[in-house]
Amino acid sequence: MIDPKHYHAPPGLLKDRVILVTGAGAGIGRALSRACAAHGATVLLLGRTISKLEKVYDEILQDGHPQPAICPMDLGVAQGPAYDELTEKIDQEYGRLDGLVHNASLLGDRTPIEQYDIGKWQTVMHVNVNAPFILTRVCLPLLKRAKDASIVFTSSGVGRTGRAYWGAYAVSKFATEGLSQVLADELSDTTIRANVINPGKTRTNMRLQAYPAEDRSTLAQPEDVVAPYLYLLGPDSKDVNGESIDCQ
Ligand code: NDP
Repeated sequence: MIDPKHYHAPPGLLKDRVILVTGAGAGIGRALSRACAAHGATVLLLGRTISKLEKVYDEILQDGHPQPAICPMDLGVAQGPAYDELTEKIDQEYGRLDGLVHNASLLGDRTPIEQYDIGKWQTVMHVNVNAPFILTRVCLPLLKRAKDASIVFTSSGVGRTGRAYWGAYAVSKFATEGLSQVLADELSDTTIRANVINPGKTRTNMRLQAYPAEDRSTLAQPEDVVAPYLYLLGPDSKDVNGESIDCQ
């Protein structure tokens, strides 16, 4: 059995694969999008800040990798027509989807449940849980057309053991683990697999927001945690389904 943490992705691992990454403009999503492109994938960069997506788009082209596509979408407010437009465009352009990475998330407030703002709670749950559910549901027909397709959800340590003051973020990550498990069980006889990744402490804007005073030099860089994602997106993990994997 391959250890995803120490996976060495061969150069053409994702050649000819079409992979959608949410939250592709910054942090882990940006590093992962660039790594997928470097391994041959056509990456669909989904996010809410177009300037950040354009920067990643340019970086991928400058590196000489397959031309990506930009999919502007705010998962906090997107409604049915936006999802339909997205899947219609993917269908017209590529005819299928080989990988779907649910990476975008909101941290929300670090505050006791007793004081947690109700509107903020709903927003975090929507972006972190409801939107990945909706996106998965609308993308399943495209994923079914791939030879082997992979859905990757993103969890966190606080999605496995609850911790004080992590509020909606922690609860949303428990729900993410549940969504992935239910889906994986339903997909067990298909060519689609669903798994969850916990990237661990990584030097990104979200981590800075959660721990503003910590020494950031000790943290992994986003580029350091992408190997398990590449493993789950490539054919070597074809039979891996319903797993919860740590990057560090
Ligand atoms: P960042 O905050 O650096 O990046 C998150 C990305 O998600 C950004 O590109 C952001 O866009 C995008 N995003 C946020 N809200 C929306 C929205 N409504 N619609 C579309 N895109 C949105 O976070 P990380 O890279 O650190 O986190 C990536 C994943 O890893 C998350 O799921 C997080 O929970 C998880 N994780 C991270 C850890 C860490 O230590 N960094 C530890 C454990 C888990 P924009 O830049 O425009 O705001």
